Amino acid sequence: PYIIGAACIDTTDKSCIEECPVDCIYEGDRKLYINPKECIDCGACEPVCPVEAISQDRAAPDEDEEHIEDNRAFFTEV
Ligand code: SF4
Repeated sequence: PYIIGAACIDTTDKSCIEECPVDCIYEGDRKLYINPKECIDCGACEPVCPVEAISQDRAAPDEDEEHIEDNRAFFTEV
């Protein structure tokens, strides 16, 4: 799945939410999160993010590695 990294914190632009065909991007307190079980890996959200916070988990930059888990955890904690 795609993941949303640190650049989204306190940005939450939400352009990605409009773009996602399966509506799997959700809003948290300080950033947005992609539900890894719902994401279909289409990539539509990546280019529209103004702060380039989105990447595919396999291609995530090192500094966003922790956000792979962070995105998953957001949907398992409730
Ligand atoms: Fe939604 Fe596609 Fe982005 Fe996954 S890759 S979050 S399905 S827009």
